[in-house]
Amino acid sequence: MPKSDFQTQAARRTARALLAWYQRHARDLPWRHTSDPYAIWVAEVMLQQTQVATVVSYWRRWMSELPDVASLAAAPMDRILRLWEGLGYYRRARHLHEAAAHILAHHRGRFPKQFEDILALPGVGRYTAGAISSIAFDQPSPVLDGNVIRVLARFCGIAGDPRRSATNQTLWGISAALVSAAHAMGEHCGALNQSLMELGATTCTARNAACSLCPVRRACVARRENRVESLPALPKRARPTQVREVAFVLQRQGRVLMRRRPKAGINAGLWEFPTSPLPHGATATAAARAQFGAQAHITPLMVVRHSITTRRISLIGVRVEAPRGLSAAPLLRGGRWCGPEVLAALPLARAHRRLAQGLSATRS
Ligand code: SF4
Repeated sequence: MPKSDFQTQAARRTARALLAWYQRHARDLPWRHTSDPYAIWVAEVMLQQTQVATVVSYWRRWMSELPDVASLAAAPMDRILRLWEGLGYYRRARHLHEAAAHILAHHRGRFPKQFEDILALPGVGRYTAGAISSIAFDQPSPVLDGNVIRVLARFCGIAGDPRRSATNQTLWGISAALVSAAHAMGEHCGALNQSLMELGATTCTARNAACSLCPVRRACVARRENRVESLPALPKRARPTQVREVAFVLQRQGRVLMRRRPKAGINAGLWEFPTSPLPHGATATAAARAQFGAQAHITPLMVVRHSITTRRISLIGVRVEAPRGLSAAPLLRGGRWCGPEVLAALPLARAHRRLAQGLSATRS
């Protein structure tokens, strides 16, 4: 179904079916009980790249500790990163902080209502601005994320790569037609947009589309033409690469040495145990000896396996009793000796938090 064929009547029929389905099948999520744009914004940012089931507890904790724009703007970055710890893609947390400062400076602390003003906030793209303006302010702004792309590409039988401009514009156009149809019928724009997100998350899923339960199945092109598996036509993912790293858990009088990561790049600004790449065939113990000398007392701690984008990382933790002259080692410059309480309060990359937990388990 090309865009030009997706006319008003079809859009209205589809919007009606989606809204009726959403009313009965929407999951009960905490941010769906509020129209506070701040709360919706935080939820939408957390939901980028992260599953709903994970986000719920993070969102609750965030809202109880930083309930509004003013408290977020005033919070130190380490506290914000600690609240975000484990969600990954930490740039999102930095953008929230920057955007809160922007709202204080340019909107007197009140969350902006105009779509263009929402879009101007740091870290807010067209999808997030559309979600906030439709859900919090009932404005007919469309949304298009991975879930919505999947639903619309299948429903309308759009075969092009959705990342390419022409196909992407077509999909935005269909999303806009649906939310405009809901608006014209006096329905809530946020409910329409959330029905698309919800359908993609729970029914029209990537692996197992449950077409028999879908409210728009009768008009769905992919279902009729048996193309559900092949749509949307996403490019193949890059192959993962295997990486090994060694983390040195240096101990001295009940404290451990931590370093802060650089301000830019992966896990920017988080704290971690001093870490270095482990060449193929090398052992973590040999790497520790090369760093700290043959006399250093070294014991294996644990291996943490995790992924960052396409890298599958084995992080091998070794405990090292801190030898003399240690602070001169280049790997450790800028480090900070931390007792258990300080360590618990610092924001750590998730793999390093697991090493810290493994360490405290061996102590108790
Ligand atoms: S009928 Fe199937 S493929 Fe089509 S939109 Fe519904 S769940 Fe997706």
